[in-house]
Amino acid sequence: MSNRFEAIKNLSNSTQSNAVKQSRITDIFGENVFKGNTAREFLSDEAYKSLMTSVNAGKKIDRSMANQIANGVRAWAESKGVTHFTHWFQPLTGTTAEKHDSFFTIKSDGTAIEEFDGAALIQQEPDASSFPSGGLRATFEARGYTAWDPSSPAFIMEIGHGKTLCIPTIFISYTGESLDYKAPLLKALESLNDAAVEVCNYFDRNVTKVTATLGWEQEYFVVDEGLYNARPDLILCGRTVFGHTPAKGQQLEDHYFGSIPERVYAFMRDFETESYKLGIPLRTRHNEVAPAQFECAPIFEEVSVAVDHNSLLMDIMDRVARRHKLRVLLHEKPFAGINGSGKHNNWSMATNNGINLLAPGKTPKTNLMFLTFFVNIIKAVHDYNDVLRASIASANNDYRLGANEAPPAIISVFIGDYLTKVLKEIKERVTDKMDETDESLLKIDIHKSIPELLLDNTDRNRTSPFAFTGNKFEFRAVGSTANCANAMTVVNTIMADTLKKFTKEVDALIEKGEKKEIAIMHVIREYIVASEKILFEGDGYSDAWEKEAARRGLPNVKTTPLALDAMVTKKAKQLFESNNVYNHLELEARHEIELEKYIKKVQIESRIMGELATSHILPAAIRYQNLLATNIRGLKEAGLKEATYKSQKEMLEIISAHINSVSENVSAMIEARKAANNLTDTRSKAIAYQEKVKDAYFDIVRYHVDKLELFVDDKEWTLPKYREILFLR
Ligand code: ADP
Ligand code: MG
Repeated sequence: MSNRFEAIKNLSNSTQSNAVKQSRITDIFGENVFKGNTAREFLSDEAYKSLMTSVNAGKKIDRSMANQIANGVRAWAESKGVTHFTHWFQPLTGTTAEKHDSFFTIKSDGTAIEEFDGAALIQQEPDASSFPSGGLRATFEARGYTAWDPSSPAFIMEIGHGKTLCIPTIFISYTGESLDYKAPLLKALESLNDAAVEVCNYFDRNVTKVTATLGWEQEYFVVDEGLYNARPDLILCGRTVFGHTPAKGQQLEDHYFGSIPERVYAFMRDFETESYKLGIPLRTRHNEVAPAQFECAPIFEEVSVAVDHNSLLMDIMDRVARRHKLRVLLHEKPFAGINGSGKHNNWSMATNNGINLLAPGKTPKTNLMFLTFFVNIIKAVHDYNDVLRASIASANNDYRLGANEAPPAIISVFIGDYLTKVLKEIKERVTDKMDETDESLLKIDIHKSIPELLLDNTDRNRTSPFAFTGNKFEFRAVGSTANCANAMTVVNTIMADTLKKFTKEVDALIEKGEKKEIAIMHVIREYIVASEKILFEGDGYSDAWEKEAARRGLPNVKTTPLALDAMVTKKAKQLFESNNVYNHLELEARHEIELEKYIKKVQIESRIMGELATSHILPAAIRYQNLLATNIRGLKEAGLKEATYKSQKEMLEIISAHINSVSENVSAMIEARKAANNLTDTRSKAIAYQEKVKDAYFDIVRYHVDKLELFVDDKEWTLPKYREILFLR
């Protein structure tokens, strides 16, 4: 029996109720995290104070305190049964990395003790040679080290019965270049803080710190483990490279409104419990549009913590699913013809005195502050839409963007009716001759119109890649497997950069004798006019928008190898260098790494396609071909008229034609791969993989395979079909 039928049989035997002990969330929330009361309890006053100073300022731990803090952390971890520790980081491979060491050590006199000193807490040297560095190591002959990022607290990861103390770190080379997702993100956040505080101070002198906030929404699929194991493409690429659309797909939209299947529900409660212990504030869970697709979202947090939590969550989901004999698919497009998965990034900024800078204010003055930040974002997205596009580019996301379920590759901003009106009013009414009466009238008018916005939250556009949703922007083009850090580094950097320029322009007008608030209104007006073309309120999925965007001169780069070009333009280098986020070497290295990742992904998909076609599809099709041929021969030999086996003959012809097409195209695809492999320039190779391998062969091979799936005897077919993977649980 093939794995397919074995898996289907086992499904009905599988125990459906994996009982999960449910605790009150507040009883377990954060119990595996070293912060707050826990940190207080295990640290001396002095050590605690020093730790909090570092946490609040995002600064390195004071060396002289490191041993004391390390002792406290170890005492806490041991009290919870932990024996090992690891520096936990987020390398550019896209997963999380750990290297476990035990507390156990042997002293020079031979005594065995448990030890964890300040040095081990603060800095480690993982072998960096196996992580991508885009040539940085070669250039600098640098080995990497990991350094604790105290803004993210230590936590305990429970894997089966093992418990490990994890220290969240950044990963950098000895010459200071960042080798991970986290280090540049922290720099971008610092740059944003500097720029935003200065702008806030025009309105409010009490603002001393601005923190960017992030609430991500994670979409994913859940499938049965047995069926998953019978699909080598799911195992190796996370997506199906073949599979005919099932008779029933998502057209009824009954999954979206339906209740969560029991087996999946047990899995959800289990991974939620694990997440709560780690302080991940999950809040929402629901079905998504596609069958077997779901979403979860936490309460928003500071960006750096939210990024860590999303990486942790993806890891936890994967592990917990296995306990339930399920598999989580985080891929952006696991099934053709069925919606893919994204990870909306809800983003805003908050001040130290508790103001959300993207929430319309209560007074005309705070509303002007809101408008200032609001318009600066539009300007930032306008000026750097290519860099933003590059930040979400990946081989996986190419399958999803613009596929009638996700925003297209055109970056635009949606702001809703009211704010459109407000911007129009500013554009028309702010004039050079404006005096203070005009100014206060205008402020009051704007103030009157904005609160309406809060009343009507239905003013939503689901098709925009960057949408204002009442008190935050939602960046919807981020892919479901992506580390949010990449998109967040860019969003915060372009915002910082735009705010810095804004301050300069406003100050210049003030110096010329303009009143502060009038100066601000003038620059706002100028920004509205300059960035109008990025605003779009219509249907982002429509063909009309593609045409309109082209007319406006907005870029629409559909493929990753080309979208990535925007990372290394003069403009991008200037942006990232002047905000101290990446130097040009780091940018070039990252560009190279992203191209390499793209090549590898497409290469693996192409290989698995070839392999499945040769070792699964063609044998099944040929067996059936034989059956038909034997049947026809038998009927012929029995002396029957040709009309008796007319249908069999037609089927045999159709099947034989598809068999030949699969076989020929697979051979040609292998040749195209060889040709691409001979290219030495990484960018040219990535483009060759995209044009000459993927675009040239993936669809055509798939077309013929999927046809065979329809025609060949179901008994012969070894790969689980879409209807089974998506609908059986
Ligand atoms: P939706 O209707 O899009 O599901 P929700 O209100 O459920 O909107 O919010 C989605 C996400 O946005 C949640 O993670 C939520 O915490 C987050 N969010 C809300 N306010 C902010 C904010 N000020 N900054 C960042 N994220 C926010
Ligand atoms: Mg949303």
